[in-house]
Amino acid sequence: MLAVDIAKNIREKEKRLRESGLVSQSIDPGPADSAIFEVANGMSIAADMAKHGVKWVTADKSPGSRKTGAEKLRARLTASQQFPMEEPGIFIFEDCRQWIRCVPVLPRDPQDTDDVDSRERLATTALFSFIGAEPASEWLSGFAALDDRGFVLTDRSLGREHLNGRWEALGRSPLPFETSYPGLFAVGDVRSGSTKRVAAAVGEGSASVRSVHDYLAFGYRA
Ligand SMILES: Cc1cc2nc3c(=O)[nH]c(=O)nc-3n(C[C@H](O)[C@H](O)[C@H](O)COP(=O)(O)OP(=O)(O)OC[C@H]3O[C@@H](n4cnc5c(N)ncnc54)[C@H](O)[C@@H]3O)c2cc1C
Repeated sequence: MLAVDIAKNIREKEKRLRESGLVSQSIDPGPADSAIFEVANGMSIAADMAKHGVKWVTADKSPGSRKTGAEKLRARLTASQQFPMEEPGIFIFEDCRQWIRCVPVLPRDPQDTDDVDSRERLATTALFSFIGAEPASEWLSGFAALDDRGFVLTDRSLGREHLNGRWEALGRSPLPFETSYPGLFAVGDVRSGSTKRVAAAVGEGSASVRSVHDYLAFGYRA
C-alpha cells in the first residue's frame, strides 16, 4: 500500500474516532521509525504522508530505548487494566492484527529478557523484498497528467483541474483507462492506482481495448 493511501486511511480512522467521542479533536503525532524520514530523490515517506495531513515524530532508537519502550508498554498495559484508570494506559484493538501477531512473540535476549534478541535466527522459506517503483514517465510530463509520484492518472482519478478546454469541446468524460490527453490510454504499472501485478497489467491491457474501440468507433476523437 502506498504511503498516501495509508495516510488517507489514518485520516479516515481519526475522523471516525473523533466522531465517536473516543478521542479529543486534536491527535498528536505519534513516533515512527526513522527510515520513513529518509529522503530519496527529494521525497520521503514522512513528507508524502504529511502532505495528506498525517505527521510523525522520529522514534527514539538510542541505545537502551528498546528496554525503556518495553517497560513503558508493560506499565501502560497494567494501567489499562485498572478501573478507574488513573495512569496512561494502552489498548490494542482486535483489528491490530499485525501487532498481535508480531509483538507478543518477539524473541527475547536470553542474557537480558527485557530486550529483544537481535541475533535470533528465524527459520524462513522465503524472503520478499518490496523495493518500490519509479515510473519512467518523464517523457509524458506536461502531456498527460501525472500523480505526485509520476504515475499516469486516468479516468476517475482525473480531477477537473486536469481536464482542459479540449474536454469541454468534446463534451464527454475520459473513458476507462484514458489519460487527461484524449485518445491516450495508460494501463499496467505506470497507471496511477493500478495493482502492480502481472495479471492486473495484462487484464487492464485487454480491458482497455473496449475503450480504444469506443474512442475509434463512436466519434469520441479529439
Ligand atoms: C522484482 C520484481 C518482482 C516482481 N514479481 C512479481 C510477481 O511475482 N508476480 C506478479 O504478478 N508481479 C510481479 N512483479 C510486478 C510485475 O512485474 C509488474 O506488475 C508487471 O510487469 C507490469 O507490467 P507492465 O507491462 O505494466 O510494465 P513493465 O513490465 O514494467 O513493462 C514496461 C516496459 O516498457 C519499457 N519502457 C519504459 N519506458 C519506455 C520508453 N520510454 N520507451 C520504450 N519502452 C519503455 C520498459 O523497459 C518495460 O519493458 C514484480 C516486479 C518486480 C520489479
